[in-house]
Amino acid sequence: MRGSGPRAAGRRRTWGGGGGGGGDIPSTPASLAACYSSPRRAPLWTCLLLCAALRTLLASPSSEVNLLDSRTVMGDLGWIAFPKNGWEEIGEVDENYAPIHTYQVCKVMEQNQNNWLLTSWISNEGASRIFIELKFTLRDCNSLPGGLGTCKETFNMYYFESDDANGRKLKENQYIKIDTIAADESFTELDLGDRVMKLNTEVRDVGPLSKKGFYLAFQDVGACIALVSVRVYYKKCPSVVRHLAIFPDTITGADSSQLLEVSGSCVNHSVTDDPPKMHCSAEGEWLVPIGKCMCKAGYEEKNGTCQAPSPVTNVKRGKIAKNSISLSWQEPDRPNGIILEYEIKYFEKDQETSYTIIKSKEASITAEGLKPASVYVFQIRARTAAGYGVFSRRFEFETTPVFAASSDQSQIPIIAVSVTVGVILLAVVIGFLLSGRRCGYSKAKQDPEEEKMQFHSGHIKLPGVRTYIDPHTYEDPNQAVHEFAKEIEASSITIERVIGAGEFGEVCSGRLKQPGKRELPVAIKTLKVGYSEKQRRDFLGEASIMGQFDHPNIIHLEGVVTKSKPVMIVTEYMENGSLDTFLKKNDGQFTVIQLVGMLRGIAAGMKYLSDMGYVHRDLAARNILINSNLVCKVSDFGLSRVLEDDPEAAYTTRGGKIPIRWTAPEAIAFRKFTSASDVWSYGIVMWEVVSYGERPYWEMTNQDVIKAVEEGYRLPSPMDCPAALYQLMLDCWQKDRNSRPKFDELVNMLDKLIRNPSSLKTLVNTSSRVSTLLAEHGPLGPGAYRSVGEWLEAIKMGRYTEIFMENGYSSMDAVAQVTLE
Ligand code: AMP
Repeated sequence: MRGSGPRAAGRRRTWGGGGGGGGDIPSTPASLAACYSSPRRAPLWTCLLLCAALRTLLASPSSEVNLLDSRTVMGDLGWIAFPKNGWEEIGEVDENYAPIHTYQVCKVMEQNQNNWLLTSWISNEGASRIFIELKFTLRDCNSLPGGLGTCKETFNMYYFESDDANGRKLKENQYIKIDTIAADESFTELDLGDRVMKLNTEVRDVGPLSKKGFYLAFQDVGACIALVSVRVYYKKCPSVVRHLAIFPDTITGADSSQLLEVSGSCVNHSVTDDPPKMHCSAEGEWLVPIGKCMCKAGYEEKNGTCQAPSPVTNVKRGKIAKNSISLSWQEPDRPNGIILEYEIKYFEKDQETSYTIIKSKEASITAEGLKPASVYVFQIRARTAAGYGVFSRRFEFETTPVFAASSDQSQIPIIAVSVTVGVILLAVVIGFLLSGRRCGYSKAKQDPEEEKMQFHSGHIKLPGVRTYIDPHTYEDPNQAVHEFAKEIEASSITIERVIGAGEFGEVCSGRLKQPGKRELPVAIKTLKVGYSEKQRRDFLGEASIMGQFDHPNIIHLEGVVTKSKPVMIVTEYMENGSLDTFLKKNDGQFTVIQLVGMLRGIAAGMKYLSDMGYVHRDLAARNILINSNLVCKVSDFGLSRVLEDDPEAAYTTRGGKIPIRWTAPEAIAFRKFTSASDVWSYGIVMWEVVSYGERPYWEMTNQDVIKAVEEGYRLPSPMDCPAALYQLMLDCWQKDRNSRPKFDELVNMLDKLIRNPSSLKTLVNTSSRVSTLLAEHGPLGPGAYRSVGEWLEAIKMGRYTEIFMENGYSSMDAVAQVTLE
């Protein structure tokens, strides 16, 4: 029912009780002018509210789903007003002559106004929190001569829940008030003169809703308002594919701070052992991705999907005879794995329903038993461990006519060869079956437990329980590298720039393009020239360890270059580099949920390592890498060198280098490194993350740190730290290592916090921070400083100076009086 031309402009509708039934009164330019100037009449400002403003407003974000948009309703809205002389609908048109519904009321001169406008029923479509966006203009009471006593500058919005689309109530007390709506900008006579309208936008939300729908109501108590549009919507996190998992359209939760945990399902041909999840925020944003899917072996990731081998394209005809056609072809461009065989489908042209399928391990076949002088259509597809790819396009070839003598002769050797090959194949198959039967018989007699074990370079591995194998247990370390790391051709690597310095040489970023795989951004660690055999062994030791791991929160090894120089280790590229530097650079930039997401990732990686029986020994934010999606991955795996190359590692009295500030007391005292000592270090990493890369124990000396920790002191909570996180840190720093949480418990606890973000709202109380701070910095001795500021600066706590002053601790004497209580 679009307006059919200028004649449709300025149609005015008035209400009957049943809504929208009144007669249409054509308006004229004169009536418009009168309305602008007289507050006694309903003002037709909306025609000036100008389409330009409305046009820009029509598009709503993809995370919002409209339940009602009065601007897009062409016909009758079905809203009703009471009393009937209160709100009026003014039917206007936009620049495309499409009708716009506006509602106006302007009874500013009359006392005791109570004008209601009720919408028709709005289904909430399953949403439990809905948003109402109002666009309106409101006249400034000061600009109304004589109206000051009665004129109002607000109106009220109400709702009434109902399962019944015909259950509109007319009793005011059945409606629940949403809010009083005031204008940010009201307009005056002057604005009218300039024909500039000040359009206000106000959004309110209502929830949780429990019925199928609701009615809205607008109550005017004596203002001069034009309600230009009403948009009712809910928010959803729109369906996305992230990390090869599909997350469905998800309606946001009823609570404005709620994060809904949503499980993703792996796209076709992908699998996961860390099920992907994301969290849908009340704002319709996907947050904190956890886990991921990976393409099955033989599939390649491309634009969020996994595809099997690409189609065979290059098919060439070989010998063609009256009853046979020979073909050959090249391997597909992207085989995405080892091609196990080809399937060839062929049929006589136009006889597609009667086709033949043959299989071949070679990239060639001869189709036999064909009719002479007939066109045959061939299609070929490749199979890898992942399954079949798609068929190639159709290739057509024609057999020769019956009288082509040479063709017959050409068949003779083929037939001879075929018969011979057939006989040989038959013999091989029979032999294979017989030997297989013998194997089956002897296996049946084996101990079933023994059968489950695989012997793997002298190490017993149980399927399903993968354990870490220390490369030291190999007599020849080169064997370990080649067992766990793939050899990469140096020519497939392009080095782009130097990004860091490792113990053995430079670390560069670059690209890796291996045959049949898509190009990847990678980090390349190089072994500097002039290395000793031990250095080479130690350097490649990291790859032998890394190559055993396969987890989204552990840095992934692409392979090694050992057959040419320089020797290189190639890993996935982490755009944001090491976590400590990244956090320092972005101080204060992340939400608590983002920080907890990072910690969750690190804990999941560590859980995987501890399940594999690997103890990291040097877990610290500097050894975590972070990518552009803020996914954190544990890195820096080494043999004896683990602690040798860490600038934080210091020699202990028992010899051996240890990164004191990150290490559990039992590991420092008697080198008891276990997953429980990794948990202690994890607590320090939590502290580093929440304090955006602050140095643990600031400038205290290592000796002071060891002493303080032994005496029971612990790092104070970082600024603005959720109490639940600080409690986890303290749990990780239990003296008794058996009392510390395990990594799987940490992952579960962090997941719970992510699911219930309101649990992160309680922060550690500042005054208790200050008192613990004083206690824990006892070894530094506040008595040694002249002013509170100087002392706090020395312990890198200068930012708390103001808090001290505000609380009356302005001199060192006063500070010295502070007790823990
Ligand atoms: P590392 O020898 O492993 O400590 O690496 C030295 C530095 O190189 C790190 O601190 C990072 O800044 C950088 N780096 C190492 N590996 C990667 C990677 N996979 N992606 C991005 N940067 C890396």
